[in-house]
Amino acid sequence: MPPTTSGQRLRTCRACGKKFEYPVKGNPATRHHCEDCVIIPPEMRKTLERLSSRVNQVELQLRSLEAKLAALTATTGK
Ligand SMILES: [Zn+2]
Repeated sequence: MPPTTSGQRLRTCRACGKKFEYPVKGNPATRHHCEDCVIIPPEMRKTLERLSSRVNQVELQLRSLEAKLAALTATTGK
C-alpha cells in the first residue's frame, strides 16, 4: 500500500536548494531547511542561504538569456 502523502508538500531547502517532502515522520527537516541543512549552525546556514539565492538569480537570468537567444536564432537563423 502506498504511504499517504496528504498534508505533505514538496518544499525547496532555502540553504541548498534541494527539494524535500515536509513534514515526514521521523525526519528532522523543517519548513525551510532539509534534513541535511537543519543541522548546520544558523550563522553558517545564513551564508548558504545567501549563496543559494544568488544561484537562483543567476539561474533565472541564464534561463531568460537562453530564451532570448532561442528567440533570436529562431528569427534570424534561416
Ligand atoms: Zn538543504
